Amino acid sequence: MLMQREREQVVAYGNKMVQAGLTTGSGGNLSVLDRRQGLVAIGPSGIDYARVQAEDVVITDLDGSVVAGRWKPSSELSFHLELYRRRGDVNAVVHTHSVYATTMACLHWEIPAVHYLVAFSGDKVPLAPYATFGSRQLADNVAATIGNYNAVLLANHGLVAVGGDMAAAFNVAEEIELVARIYYQCKCIGTPVQVDDAEMARVVEKFADYGQQ
Ligand code: 13P
Ligand code: ZN
Repeated sequence: MLMQREREQVVAYGNKMVQAGLTTGSGGNLSVLDRRQGLVAIGPSGIDYARVQAEDVVITDLDGSVVAGRWKPSSELSFHLELYRRRGDVNAVVHTHSVYATTMACLHWEIPAVHYLVAFSGDKVPLAPYATFGSRQLADNVAATIGNYNAVLLANHGLVAVGGDMAAAFNVAEEIELVARIYYQCKCIGTPVQVDDAEMARVVEKFADYGQQ
């Protein structure tokens, strides 16, 4: 099957997304790019993660034409493709409706450096202006706002995380949800103290070779 490994990753990480409490039902979506072939494996639109099998994953080219698969691709295909076009370092995109990150997005707040783990995104998580789900405008807003960050909040909607591979993009989504939750809890009982810019610059630099390379 074309893009078998990538299809299996989309299925496995879709299930992980539900298990980790980052989304519910068919909310959010994931994709992986094979840059050599110029092909994208993306989940089908509107099907519960629990029901999606490898053969249900849709394969498209970078212009969005369906190359394989019998279902309609995710309604957010256009922002996935726009991110792959604009960011040569990105080979996987994870979109969630995770509750704490989405809470910030509904307040139209960015997530500042309240905890050093925000470095999974950069020195903050920026906020893209609201546009209808699945629209060209939303794709433009996401691409224009994310810049070199690895995550972006979508106003009144959710979060998009990117990475060099699916594991990295998923990790960004999971860690940013943790930071959003901590930010929320801090705001409930006090005023969070932010990590200053110079320290965040050091942390972001350290993250480049964090863990087992
Ligand atoms: P899809 O099921 O079409 O991927 O849509 C879910 C979603 O989160 C839209 O923003
Ligand atoms: Zn969504």
